Amino acid sequence: PEASTHLPVVVLSRYACQRRTSTENHNEIFTDAFEVMAESYEFSQCDGQCLAFRRAASVLKSVPWPVERLGAATRLPCLGEHTRAVMEEILQCGRSFEVEKILCNDRYQRLKLFTSVFGVGPKTAEKWHRGGLRTLNDALEDPGVELNSMQKAGFRHHGDISRAVSRAEALALGEILHQAALGISAHAVLVLTGGFRRGKEFGHDVDFLLSTPEQGKEETLLLSLVDSLRRQGILLYCDHHPSTFDINNLPGVSFEAMDHFAKSFLILRLEDRQVEGGVQRPEGQHDGRSWRAVRVDVVAPPMERYAFTLLGWTGSRQFERDLRRFARKEKRMLLDNHGLWDKTKKEFLPAEREEDIFAHLGLEYLEPQLRNA
Ligand code: ATP
Ligand code: MN
Ligand code: MN
Repeated sequence: PEASTHLPVVVLSRYACQRRTSTENHNEIFTDAFEVMAESYEFSQCDGQCLAFRRAASVLKSVPWPVERLGAATRLPCLGEHTRAVMEEILQCGRSFEVEKILCNDRYQRLKLFTSVFGVGPKTAEKWHRGGLRTLNDALEDPGVELNSMQKAGFRHHGDISRAVSRAEALALGEILHQAALGISAHAVLVLTGGFRRGKEFGHDVDFLLSTPEQGKEETLLLSLVDSLRRQGILLYCDHHPSTFDINNLPGVSFEAMDHFAKSFLILRLEDRQVEGGVQRPEGQHDGRSWRAVRVDVVAPPMERYAFTLLGWTGSRQFERDLRRFARKEKRMLLDNHGLWDKTKKEFLPAEREEDIFAHLGLEYLEPQLRNA
């Protein structure tokens, strides 16, 4: 009886890869606020503060109940003075005035609007803002603004791409891509990765990994796949990055660096009738169309790198970041989407499945559904 009067003490690791984080977030009031703070710091290129708020949000996502006070019951790592102050404000007043001030801030609003366009990053957004642009139309009409083809496609499909992709839509696209891939090679392997593999119901895009047991044929397969989508008339945009993969390169130290495998960033046309259960258009979007545009990413690693790429593309970003940090700081190993390098043994560690990589790192295996850090 005495024990039951005490709240359970939870000790959370400071590494997201040692925490279980489902899609169920009990601390949204804090994590939503932290995301605004992080974004605002990102816009100002304050990477340290941005990361601090992303880390804090990630910790709170792994607490399986609403945190009601800061202190004894839950020992939360990665919370600094500033993150705690924002939490205290929310606990006491139900909202954070600092966050509300940011949300009303002109510059924040504009940068948020500009970066919502596919192909426009914080740097371009900042440039437009400094040039006095206020609306998306300003950017389209300003003679001084030169849009690249990615940004042009981003503007063309802005409404559709800003709208979340549902799980049913992701599965429908999976079916279309799978059929197209099998039409090219009977050995083609296509798997859903990214947020939908982690069990999310909605996403900003759909991520796939494509490969084949035929050595060295994965990039050709990807190019043929894109070509097949084009011939089907559903390819609205393609930005292809050829492979620069070199088997002898050590894993990169910078997390943010892209991997070197062949990949395509696409915009595809998805017909309503292809989606199981039909499509619910949000209020005011009945423009007579029976299709929508969807952002799709496809990466094509060689089969022997499959496990590393699957692990890297499944995310979440915070989970990946901490996996790599854990490997480097705690195990003297370098991990990225290509492989795992043991600095002590001076050798690459092989892996056929994600489980092998967790085992090399001495980590308990976490299902994708628990990687929503
Ligand atoms: P969302 O629902 O918003 O799409 P997500 O977790 O799927 O969430 P993505 O931005 O699609 O987010 O990224 C999925 C994973 O793929 C992340 O772990 C990210 O690190 C990885 N990733 C995304 N783009 C690249 C890239 N160009 N090179 C390497 N890895 C990438
Ligand atoms: Mn995604
Ligand atoms: Mn993606």
